[in-house]
Order: sequence, then structure tokens, then C-alpha cells
Amino acid sequence: MTTEIGFIGAGNMGGPMVKNLLAADYSVVVYDNSQTAIDACVAAGATAVGSPKELADTVETVLVCLPTPDIVRAVALGEDGLVHGGKIKTYIDLSTTGPRMAMPIAEAMEEAGIIALDAPVSGGVAGAIAGSLAVMVSGPHNAHGHHRPMLEKIGKNVFYVGDKIGMGQLMKLLNNMLSGTALAVTSEAVALGIKAGIAPQMMIDVFNASSGRNTATEAKFPNAVLTRSFDIGFNTGLMFKDVRLCIEEAEALGVTMFVGSGTRQAWAHALGKGEPSDDSTVIMQHYEKLAAIEWPED
Ligand code: NAD
Repeated sequence: MTTEIGFIGAGNMGGPMVKNLLAADYSVVVYDNSQTAIDACVAAGATAVGSPKELADTVETVLVCLPTPDIVRAVALGEDGLVHGGKIKTYIDLSTTGPRMAMPIAEAMEEAGIIALDAPVSGGVAGAIAGSLAVMVSGPHNAHGHHRPMLEKIGKNVFYVGDKIGMGQLMKLLNNMLSGTALAVTSEAVALGIKAGIAPQMMIDVFNASSGRNTATEAKFPNAVLTRSFDIGFNTGLMFKDVRLCIEEAEALGVTMFVGSGTRQAWAHALGKGEPSDDSTVIMQHYEKLAAIEWPED
């Protein structure tokens, strides 16, 4: 029997997830406020509805993959939100929302008899397309077990982080603090090397054969910075949000993050000098300006 799933937020990450669920024989009903996103899903075999509430009146399980915590709250609890639907039984948030937003949303869902799981993902657009994302789940253990086969269609590596809502979200923030720090500090190092006359390709080759190797040197620089295509698919606004949420969580729990605070400043600078929609790899260009260097010709 085909299982019906609702999906809200069919963007860079959500779009490929919908396609993978369809390919795994799930019947997917989508809502997005972009007609382009809806059209792409419908062309792949999904059906569409006109609001979150309508979706929650139609299906028992709803996944959301939305940009910001405020948008997630509006879609979940707003006037026309999922919480008001008559059929929904489980709400699963794949977005990076942060624990402080996940908890009150889960409480409001619970009051309406809806089980909430947080299940943020990592692995980028390439991982979403390949269905190889890491999925960090928290919430009731039974609900996680019930939905795990479906989550495995989105990501090969499903981790059950714990039963407390928000644990999966915090796990994701910790991961993105590491990844955002790697991208910022690799850009700083490459800017310094260029100023001293070392070729960018040489630096990346040496890092990747040495102890400076990280996700920026292995994937982001070779695919989107050295090529000057700046198209890794994760934007500056999202990166700043994740690093900010991580620092806020550290402050709330009384944990010091010296390096993390510097990472936050680096991304605040990238956001201030550019646009939220800039690809996150554009941070390299900001460091080029700060160091007063020209990217060397091959
Ligand atoms: P995106 O901006 O590409 O997609 C978001 C989608 O949500 C769009 O289709 C947009 O139209 C839709 N949307 C926005 N507001 C809406 C609303 N009010 N109602 C309905 N639909 C709405 O973002 P993305 O890159 O796919 O990221 C989504 C989430 O996944 C974010 O929380 C992000 O932090 C997280 N994430 C992204 C990546 C990545 O590499 N892009 C990786 C891991 C996690």
C-alpha cells in the first residue's frame, strides 16, 4: 500500500527529498509558497494543496524543510498552520530551527494530539539529491522507529540523538558550527597564502594531503571556490542563522565558545557586505577584499 506523506518547503533541499520519496513509492502531497517549487514537484509526480492547514487535513504525516525558525513557527502554528489540521498525527521538522524553537512548537503540537520529531539534516544539496544525508532525530523513540524507514529514503545515516525534543536540533547546530568555522578559516588561510604568492590550487592540494584537511578543503573549495562558480547550494543567510543559533544556545547553557564567537563575526561580516541569498562560498570573496588581493589567474 502506498503511504501518503505531506511535505512543505520543496526548495534546494526539500525538492530533491520529495523526488527521492516519490522514487521510493511514497505518495507525496506538497505545499510551498513558491509556484516554481510546486510545479517541479508536481512534474515529478506529487500532488499539491493550497495551505499548511489543507495539507494537515489531507495526510497523517507532514515533513517540513523551511528556511528560518520564524517561518517554521508560522507554518506549524500560524493562523492557517498545520496544528489546525484534522488528519495530521505526526509533524517532522527537517529544517534547522534550533532547540529553542523546536521545543515550544512540539509542546503546542502535543496539546493538539500531534507527535513532533525534530530531524534536521546535513550533507548539502548533493546529499539531498543522492539520498545520502545525515538525519539527526530526536523526540519519542516509538515515533522515530515508526518513521525511520521513510527517513532512510532521505538520508542513509539516520541517527537517533535522544528522546528530548531539540537534541537533534542542537546536534545539527554543533555540526554547522564546525562546518561554518572550517569554511571561514579556510578562506582566511587561502587569502593569506595568495597574498604571499602561493597558488590556491597548490594550497588546497597540500591541505588535502595534510592535517589541515576539512569539509571546505575537500568539497567546497574544489567544487565552488577554485572554479569561481560559488554554487555549493547553501546560502550565507542560512549559515549565519545556524552559527547564531549555536552561539545563542551556548550562551543559554553557560558554555564558552571562543572560536565559535569569531566564526559568528565572520559570517555576520559576510552577511553585512553581501546578501542572505549569496552562496556561502562567497565568503572567500569578502576575505579577498579584506586582504586587498586579486584572485590569481590560472
Ligand atoms: P531554500 O530556501 O532553498 O528552500 C526553502 C523552501 O521553502 C522554498 O521552496 C521556499 O519557497 C519555501 N518556503 C519559504 N517560506 C515558506 C512558507 N511560509 N510557506 C511555504 N513554503 C515556504 O532552503 P534550503 O537550502 O532548502 O534549506 C531548508 C532548510 O534546510 C533550512 O533550515 C536549512 O538551514 C536546512 N539545510 C540546508 C542545507 C543546504 O545545503 N541548503 C543543508 C542542510 C540543512
